[in-house]
Amino acid sequence: MRKNRTYLLTIQKQLKLMLPGHPRILTCPFCRAEKEVLTLHSGNTIDQRMWSDNKTEAPMLPSVSYVQKCPQCGKFYIITRQEYIIEDSKWGGELGTLGYEDMLKAFHQLKEEGFVDKDEEANVRVLLFHTYNDQYRYEESDEPELTQVDKDLFLENVTWLIQNCIMDELMLAEFYREIGDMKNAQLYLDKFQTEEPFFQKLKDEIQRHILENDARVFEITNL
Ligand SMILES: [Zn+2]
Repeated sequence: MRKNRTYLLTIQKQLKLMLPGHPRILTCPFCRAEKEVLTLHSGNTIDQRMWSDNKTEAPMLPSVSYVQKCPQCGKFYIITRQEYIIEDSKWGGELGTLGYEDMLKAFHQLKEEGFVDKDEEANVRVLLFHTYNDQYRYEESDEPELTQVDKDLFLENVTWLIQNCIMDELMLAEFYREIGDMKNAQLYLDKFQTEEPFFQKLKDEIQRHILENDARVFEITNL
């Protein structure tokens, strides 16, 4: 019995079970309304999913959105800019995950206000990039209704990321593929050399999508 219990505790320790911590209380910079967001005591990457646009999702390691929407006034703010307090008497909190429509509004509002630095802008733009792709990402996703304005912004956004973020040739190939620039995608893919089996398989997978003229994000499974 004792042995079993010790074993169980060891397993729990190894698994790093997801345990929520006390919520972080954010205050909206526009209307002062409070919002409780999640903090984690511990978590793990079991059942983590990865996609070709560099998005990862781990159910036991959920991440709080970098951009939050105020539940009262509906305006958006960047989480790292806000002062916060930890609410010791409570547990849990929300993630504040934004869908594409909200992220689009957030991007325009934050851009209008001006970013503190390039890192902040890059974080917001990556979120915009990922929420756009979220519309295609999941098996159950329906064909999204995207306007030319959406597509133009996606092109501008990913081009900005290509020009302003540090990326290796493999990622450059993937980002060019996702904006439908198969010529540059092929160029950078050919430049990328690796001896790592994982990256070789990922390269092969990107190659397959380029040949199919398919610009959509894909899940990286069993590589
Ligand atoms: Zn507010």
